[in-house]
Amino acid sequence: MIDSIMQRLGVAESLYRGGDYAVMSPTDGREIGRVQLENGEQVAARIARAQSAFEAWRQVPAPRRGELVRLFGEQLRRHKEDLGALVTLECGKILQEGLGEVQEMIDICDLAVGQSRQLYGLTIASERPGHHMRESWHPLGPIGLITAFNFPVAPWAWNAALALVCGNSLVWKPSEKTPLCALACQSLLERAMAEFGDEAPADLSQVVIGDREAGERLVDDPRIPLISATGSTRMGREVAPRVAARFGRSILELGGNNAMILAPSADLDMAVRAILFSAVGTAGQRCTTLRRLIVHESVRDEVVERLKKAYAGVSIGNPMDGHLIGPLIDAQAYDQMLSVLDSARQQGAKVFGGERQLADRYPDGFYVSPAIVEVESQNALVKNETFAPILYVLSYRDFAEAVALNNDVPQGLSSCVFSTDVREAEAFISDLGSDCGIANVNIGPSGAEIGGAFGGEKETGGGRESGSDVWKSYMRRQTNTVNYSRELPLAQGIKFD
Ligand code: NAD
Repeated sequence: MIDSIMQRLGVAESLYRGGDYAVMSPTDGREIGRVQLENGEQVAARIARAQSAFEAWRQVPAPRRGELVRLFGEQLRRHKEDLGALVTLECGKILQEGLGEVQEMIDICDLAVGQSRQLYGLTIASERPGHHMRESWHPLGPIGLITAFNFPVAPWAWNAALALVCGNSLVWKPSEKTPLCALACQSLLERAMAEFGDEAPADLSQVVIGDREAGERLVDDPRIPLISATGSTRMGREVAPRVAARFGRSILELGGNNAMILAPSADLDMAVRAILFSAVGTAGQRCTTLRRLIVHESVRDEVVERLKKAYAGVSIGNPMDGHLIGPLIDAQAYDQMLSVLDSARQQGAKVFGGERQLADRYPDGFYVSPAIVEVESQNALVKNETFAPILYVLSYRDFAEAVALNNDVPQGLSSCVFSTDVREAEAFISDLGSDCGIANVNIGPSGAEIGGAFGGEKETGGGRESGSDVWKSYMRRQTNTVNYSRELPLAQGIKFD
């Protein structure tokens, strides 16, 4: 299956069969490819190529650059099924979500094409007579992209589509767990470049197949003015000071610990459906996965009972076969989940679910039933992001207490409230409410659209990607003052004669 998909996506066999690093499918633990990891010298050579490509690409007018992204979007439309299936095979999310990820890529291409005609700055009133003042936006350079296994294609596209229309070249180091998806994206972009013609330099987009060390090479290289890195808070803690030490810029999209406040006035049917999708979807391996349910004590028992029923009925199995929950990425993720559930039990929490599934059929695939863990307080275990389907349940009495619990974790990515009380809903998204980058009302914390900026505060890293005015992150701002008079007045009325 993998060969026919890769062939249709235009990836040369030598690229995904030739190397000595094995790529496993989490669906059954079998090898689906072998890639070659690149060493430091090869990474440096790729950065040099991206640097030269940048010098040519920035000269192409922005709306023309948008045309390349439009053509790339067309390639994605044509190959949505294959790329979606590859996402499923390589990272184990269900096919519907694999397709959804590709759709997100298409959506950001559409947004970036429009943006390519709107890279505008301000005109500003000058205090000096006969002067014009304005802000201009210029391309930045080769953009370094580091991505995580659980979204192997969309976050790259959020960055790449905007960075390209802004006049930058790209150097992408995907997760070592999902290199085939990166090779496929590169192949489709190259097809779009071939259609676009000579104006697009051949080295415009570079893919570095490598592990953490390759990522570090990218992070430390002063030719890369911006590092956009998606992954764990541990990774961000290492990357951020290194980029800052060379005065580079970074966009950090790190771990989340997302909560829902469930108020007594809420539509409970809707809330239970939202909890199910956001807590167990992608087997709990989304940065925006619902990890904490803060439920009013008056509805807690009913909600937990309904959730247990819903959890018991959800189908777990090979994500290519129409199930709703696929596998964890690997044995390490499974061990981590087990150890956290053990600690929770030892601390007196009530644990429902969390057992390994389908081990006979897939001895090297790590399927689990999602877990519900009822805890008394928000302890250290709850405050940590475990990248698995574990939903902690906490209860509250008054709304202010619930908001305080929502905010009392180190991460600040996504959050939501289910309530039909307009005062509660508005308070939650007010400046005294949720401290997260995303705060929703009557929808779950996961499943963002590309139109709004995506990212979070605190240990989530503070970065924003995708829509809104995020394009500015991929450009440098210049302030211009033009004197069209015959005098030379100084600002602030200073006299110098
Ligand atoms: P990870 O941190 O293990 O790896 C992410 C990427 O960083 C990989 O490409 C890896 O090779 C690279 N890397 C690791 N250490 C590095 C270093 N010191 N220098 C440079 N590169 C380094 O994360 P993962 O297990 O692939 O992904 C899961 C994590 O990512 C979760 O914490 C999840 O919440 C987070 N995530 C966040 C977002 C977001 O938008 N906020 C999106 C997806 C995933």
